[in-house]
Amino acid sequence: MTEKLSADYSYLDENFKKVREDLASAGRSDITLLAATKTVPAEAINYAIDNLGLRYIGENRVQELLEKYDDLHKENLHVHFIGTLQVNKVKYIADKVEMIHSLDSEKLAAEIDKRCRALGKVMDVLIEVNVAEEEQKSGISPDETSGFIEKIKNYPNLRCRGLMTMAPAGCTDEEYRRYFAKIYRLYLDNFGKNMDNKEGYILSMGMSGTYKLAAECGSTLVRVGSALFGARNYN
Ligand SMILES: *Cc1c(COP(=O)(O)O)cnc(C)c1O
Repeated sequence: MTEKLSADYSYLDENFKKVREDLASAGRSDITLLAATKTVPAEAINYAIDNLGLRYIGENRVQELLEKYDDLHKENLHVHFIGTLQVNKVKYIADKVEMIHSLDSEKLAAEIDKRCRALGKVMDVLIEVNVAEEEQKSGISPDETSGFIEKIKNYPNLRCRGLMTMAPAGCTDEEYRRYFAKIYRLYLDNFGKNMDNKEGYILSMGMSGTYKLAAECGSTLVRVGSALFGARNYN
C-alpha cells in the first residue's frame, strides 16, 4: 500500500514491537492489544492498521471519534468506546462502535439499549468498576457490580461481555497487583461459570504504565496509548 503520508510513522514499528514483546514475555501473546487513540490522527492509526496489524482501537471522546471515523481504514478494524460517555451523546456513536467499555449507570444502559434497538443492533458492553472507590471517578463500586450486572440483563439490546477498570494513577507495582487481583476475582465470580461461552468474556485492564502487570494478573485486553504512539500533546 503506497499511500502518500504527511509524516513518517515508522517510529511506531518499534513501539508496537516492544509492547507485543512485553506481553509475550508475560506469557500473554493471546491478549487483545487495543490502541487507545485519543489525540492520534487518523493517518497514524491507519499506518498501524495497514503495517503493524492493529485491529482494535478505543476512542474516549465522542467528538474526536466522529471527526476521525470516516477516515479510518475500517475493513478489519474493531472500534471501541473507552471513555466516559454522556447519556445525550450515545446517539452519535451507537452505530459506529462495537463495544462500550464504560457502562456505569442504568440511565446510560437504558439509552444505549434504546438507540441500539432502533438500529436493530445488540451492543457489547463492559461494566466499568471503580476498583479503588475513588471519589471523583466514574465506575460502579466493586460491591455493587454483581447487582448491576443483574439489572443490565433487563436490556435486550445490551450484551454484557465483562468488566473494565482504570486503576488509580501513581501506585506501586504491589498496589497495582492488589487492585488487579481484586478485579480479576470479581470477573471470575461474575463470569467464570460461563467461561466456555464461545465468544468469551473480557477483562479490560492495564494501560501504558501497567499493561505488563495487568497481563500477569489475568487481563484479557489492555488499552495502551502513549507506549504505542508516544507522549500525547493536547494542544
Ligand atoms: C488514554 C486512555 C488509556 C491509555 O492511556 P495510556 O496511559 O496513554 O496508555 C486507556 N484507557 C482509557 C479509558 C484512556 O482514556
